[in-house]
Amino acid sequence: MGALILFGAGWAGGGVLAAFFVSSSLVSRLSAEPAIPDTTRLDSKGNRRDHAQVLANGGVAALAALVGLRDPTLGLWLVTGTLAAAAADTWATSLGARSRVAPRLFWSGRPVPPGTSGGMTVLGTAGGATGGLLVAASGALAGGLPSLLPAATLIGFAGMVADSALGAVVQGRFYCPACHLPSEWPVHRCATATLHRGGLAWLDNDGVNFAATALAAGLSFAAWAWLCPCS
Ligand SMILES: [Zn+2]
Repeated sequence: MGALILFGAGWAGGGVLAAFFVSSSLVSRLSAEPAIPDTTRLDSKGNRRDHAQVLANGGVAALAALVGLRDPTLGLWLVTGTLAAAAADTWATSLGARSRVAPRLFWSGRPVPPGTSGGMTVLGTAGGATGGLLVAASGALAGGLPSLLPAATLIGFAGMVADSALGAVVQGRFYCPACHLPSEWPVHRCATATLHRGGLAWLDNDGVNFAATALAAGLSFAAWAWLCPCS
């Protein structure tokens, strides 16, 4: 993925990827110990960095970078906006896990168990905004494009909110009949097959991340079309 981004979006795109990768790795490590013990959390996969998750978070950015072969400025806009959204989600998830206040669904205010897709905390939301801002700043600096800073920061934030909304509404929700616990997976960590309770059974958190970053790429294209030729 790094090679695709360097190939399509050059050293500026590589710099944005480095800002995303280093800051997200650091913030995941900082938050390795959740404030609320794991036994009471939903069975999220935590800080796992498997292939599916990398593809979900960075696959859209790698494809978008190839646009840079035709138009380097547009390529950098797409890479920065998409990675800003991916960073916002990573930061929000990692710092949200440090929150001592239970997350709430942002449209209803209903408190939900920590780790619930769609739940948001003040700490996680502020963290997400910071992660998006850092990636947006790296793109603006690397490309010498000041307007990319506010645009990609907003796009990163919008991607994070879309991720939460999709996670709560359309992501598959399951229930383990053995443990009497809600789950996000067709098979619970106790190895019991879970019952489908709502959402799309085939749509997991990786699918939601992919959709949210694709939306961020679309918003980046719209912002580029609106603001460019840009300074
Ligand atoms: Zn179970």
